[in-house]
Amino acid sequence: MKDKIKILSNHVINQIAAGEVIQRPSSVAKELLENSIDAGSKNIHLIIKNSGKKLIKVIDDGSGMSKEDAKLCFEKHATSKIQNINDISNILTMGFRGEALASIASVSKVEMKTKKSDESIGTQVFIENSKINKITETACNNGTSITVKNLFFNIPARKNFLKSDRIELKHVYEIFIQISLANPKIIFKLTNDDKVVFNLPLQNLKSRIIQIFGTKYNKKILEVNEQTSIVSISGFIVNPMEAKKTRGEQYFFVNNRFIKSSYLNHAVRSSMNDIINHDQFPSYFIFLKIDSNLIDVNVHPNKTEIKFEDEKSIYQILKSSCKRSIGLSSVQASLDFSSERSFEIPNHIFEKQPVEPKIKINSNYNPFKNKSQLDVENTKNFERLFPEDDNPILREIVDIDKRYCLFMVKNETSINILDKKRAVSRIIFEKSKKNFNNKKLTGQLLINAEKLDFNISDIQIIKDNLELFNDMGFKITINESEIILKTKPNIVEDYNCQHLFESFIEEIKYSSNEISERIISRFLKEIALKKSNNYLSFNYESLDDLIRNLLDCENPFIDLNGNSSIINIEPNKIFK
Ligand code: ADP
Ligand code: MG
Repeated sequence: MKDKIKILSNHVINQIAAGEVIQRPSSVAKELLENSIDAGSKNIHLIIKNSGKKLIKVIDDGSGMSKEDAKLCFEKHATSKIQNINDISNILTMGFRGEALASIASVSKVEMKTKKSDESIGTQVFIENSKINKITETACNNGTSITVKNLFFNIPARKNFLKSDRIELKHVYEIFIQISLANPKIIFKLTNDDKVVFNLPLQNLKSRIIQIFGTKYNKKILEVNEQTSIVSISGFIVNPMEAKKTRGEQYFFVNNRFIKSSYLNHAVRSSMNDIINHDQFPSYFIFLKIDSNLIDVNVHPNKTEIKFEDEKSIYQILKSSCKRSIGLSSVQASLDFSSERSFEIPNHIFEKQPVEPKIKINSNYNPFKNKSQLDVENTKNFERLFPEDDNPILREIVDIDKRYCLFMVKNETSINILDKKRAVSRIIFEKSKKNFNNKKLTGQLLINAEKLDFNISDIQIIKDNLELFNDMGFKITINESEIILKTKPNIVEDYNCQHLFESFIEEIKYSSNEISERIISRFLKEIALKKSNNYLSFNYESLDDLIRNLLDCENPFIDLNGNSSIINIEPNKIFK
């Protein structure tokens, strides 16, 4: 029998490694940028073409490489950053595995120019399929420039796997933002298809945040600062009063490395528990410094996840330091806690303590998520209120106070208590939805066009959905990085369109299908909820009218937050 085992060629080994390290243009950008930082650069320029699919180039003014190093750096396990295994726990550089350049060179066409400041002539290298095709001396600036062309040209399957230009571009922006936030003392520039997207001078963290995310952050961010023996925390959180409906800006850095951590996110969130709503997200830019012996950054090839030895303490310290900075800014003191209370039956109707009414109140219920649940829960009541498909005949309508009223239906012994505010929100919602379906949501010209403030990747999302917004009555023009609202639908009136669009973007980002229906539902829901705050001035002729309007709705019993809007009580059950 013939032998079967073969040793893989270096090229194939590198390509396999590339599968882990290089997933898309943004991973190349990340590795190149990190190398430039490790080389002590003060000035880094990232240039991409066609979202990085065609070209990714990084020019730096760092240490540069000698001719010998320039040849070696594309070999697997070529690194100047560690020598033995013990070095790994003390690693201060971004890279250390020595596989990034080897991987990149196995899946793209690479050109590099590099020169050390103490040498008079530089080196130029051309590489394809892991092989150096040409190496020459060249006159060039101090530092290194690496050009990566036609990523995955030799692995069509991977190339086809890349996402749309828009999505790949977003990934590149995201990496660029992460890295430039972590290094405000380095000058960064990003050019996409010959247009400058970011041009960030040497600055402090706060100015960098403001430059990247907009001047509105100037007033919004609160400093966090805490030094303990376990961890040092610094950075900024966005005032929770300004929390976004979109996932917003969530950046953790551990020893200057961007990481994702739902655990730490939870710590920040819980420091704001009473302040932000369940559908809002905290934004933050938080830097943790931890003894590198107490973390393991090696758990994930992309190094965006991290293991902490003392996770629980870090959680507590982070939470309390965020709490303190919120407290210091005294937002809490000026808060208006007039948030929704859960439905309560006014006690004075009963002489004894009432028994829990029959309808189950499911406060987590989201009417847009799962329609069938709603139907089952309410069918019985629904049938009772609409005896023979006829309009119910209302009797005994009693206004309890400004929020609640009580009514009965002919031939029924049960008492219904109605929450006017919730009723109003449901009625407005269903009416406007009907109008939308009949294409009656028209835009109203704004005397002063409104400017909306978004980061570049969000603007791209708006661009991609102009038609949808148009259908909703929003006419938008975009020039450069400005979103200008020319018309908005009548029903929005004085609504804060910035917030509204934040929630649209959130919806688009995290949903893959049926975007438009969900967006519209969410949009109309937002408006209805907001309007129902003024439920007392809602235009209804009489209580009778209000009740009928509600009962005309598809889902009269549940409001838009999933709370009951009518509670149905059978006296005989209570007295049993
Ligand atoms: P690692 O960063 O893990 O060491 P890489 O494959 O990313 O591995 O890089 C290999 C080596 O090439 C680095 O250790 C460094 O010595 C050198 N190098 C890469 N990029 C640059 C750069 N922009 N400037 C100077 N040296 C660089
Ligand atoms: Mg590296």
